[in-house]
Amino acid sequence: MSDISPEILAKYEPVIGLELHAQLLTDTKAFCSCKASYSDIPNATVCPICLGHPGTLPVVNKKHVEMAVLLGLATQCSIRPISAFARKNYFYPDLSKGYQITQFNDPICYQGTITIEMEESMKSIGITRIHLEEDAGKSLHDIDIDTLIDFNRAGMPLLEIVSEPDMRSAAEAYRYMVTMRQLVRYLGICDGNLEEGSLRCDANVSVRLKGSPTFGTKTEIKNLNSFRNVEKAIAFEIERHIALIESGGEVRQVTMQWDAASHSTKEMRSKEQAHDYRYFQEPDLGYVRVNEELITQQQEHLPELPLAMKLRLKDQYGIPGYDAGILTEDKDLALFFEHTCSKLIIQSKERYKFVSNWILTEILKILSDRKIGIAQASMIAPEAIAEIVDLFADEKISSKIAKEVFAEYISSGVSPKEYVAQKGLMQISDHTEVERIVLLSLEGEEENIEKYRSGKNNLMGYFISKVMKASGGKANPRMVNELLTQHLQ
Ligand code: ADP
Ligand code: ZN
Ligand code: MG
Repeated sequence: MSDISPEILAKYEPVIGLELHAQLLTDTKAFCSCKASYSDIPNATVCPICLGHPGTLPVVNKKHVEMAVLLGLATQCSIRPISAFARKNYFYPDLSKGYQITQFNDPICYQGTITIEMEESMKSIGITRIHLEEDAGKSLHDIDIDTLIDFNRAGMPLLEIVSEPDMRSAAEAYRYMVTMRQLVRYLGICDGNLEEGSLRCDANVSVRLKGSPTFGTKTEIKNLNSFRNVEKAIAFEIERHIALIESGGEVRQVTMQWDAASHSTKEMRSKEQAHDYRYFQEPDLGYVRVNEELITQQQEHLPELPLAMKLRLKDQYGIPGYDAGILTEDKDLALFFEHTCSKLIIQSKERYKFVSNWILTEILKILSDRKIGIAQASMIAPEAIAEIVDLFADEKISSKIAKEVFAEYISSGVSPKEYVAQKGLMQISDHTEVERIVLLSLEGEEENIEKYRSGKNNLMGYFISKVMKASGGKANPRMVNELLTQHLQ
């Protein structure tokens, strides 16, 4: 977009705070007993309570509260022993009650922090608050000629997670989102799917002259339904603010909408203020009480968190931080790695690295081709991967054969060990036999051998592949290399 020079951009410091909405994986909705699972039949999971019929009464969902406490503990929040619900009043066709039940002055969790990992350093981002609320329904536009409303989502349990304005670039905001999504997934409280809207992000953006002690006026961007959009929209908005200020204008506090098609933000409406919503305490619900017992119980539920797990894998298995980072992006993948390592016949750091390599290349490729996670990949068992790694590390099969064995295992489920035995794929590591093949392959190559001797070193690759081919891919590559070097001299 930008015509702004780098010198001008460099004068300003962006300030970003994010508001995330996480849809929780509870069995039932926030205030009624409707199923909280997704249904593609519109208005299939609704009842008089979540539709907001007069005379119905909401009831707090214990799981909703427990998940809030779990996330609060994982982000070092203070947990409020007593908090209230509030009504946020506004009119919208998909909000049939005319208000949303949320928390206002006294959120259940507050003043926490989360660490994000940037390329060169770690950074702590403050969590202002995490509060309980319910979702609204969904308007489906352009269905034939009408807008229709699906209330399945009405009353779904959400946590709103509000960050401090602590981020200073679109890249930091992106990293924060990724880190928070990974966390809610580790905790098992939200599936973190931006595209499907189970994790939603509104971004607040402002800029100020570097060194200025006060923040500039912010705008809020809505409708960010992918990680890339979060980063792009924030970057766009930062430059829009700077261009506006540089041309003598002023940023107005408005709500913007990201338009992915035109790669730009558009003004939606002027920003509403808290008093517009006429918040008042929800009279139909009592207080949420969190006692010591509930906190202890949730503390016991806290799994090992992503960053801690990453450092442990690096330490315990001696794998590079890069590998540990990718493995722990998905807890199930990290567990798969550990499970596979535990099945190796010989425990060694060399073999752990082989397991990691195998997962990072072959297995991730299959998962991405099939668009599934390791948890859904029932055709891949840790035992089989351990067999392949052991065969390879014992120099019984070459890396090329290992790939073939793996492909066969994926398509037919045959055990790698059995397949190698059946098909006679064992690597040839017998010295005499490898030497025989090497000598055979060098026959009739006088010309190339001369060239090699007079300095064309890159012919080595040609000789190696000739020997490998002659051996049906089974010759021990290390020996081939040694013997060729020896005989070519
Ligand atoms: P509002 O009253 O408009 O809802 P809040 O103070 O509640 O604003 O903050 C909402 C979000 O905006 C938070 O994530 C916060 O970190 C962020 N925020 C607040 N002020 C700024 C600012 N000047 N620039 C960028 N983000 C901001
Ligand atoms: Zn209901
Ligand atoms: Mg606010």
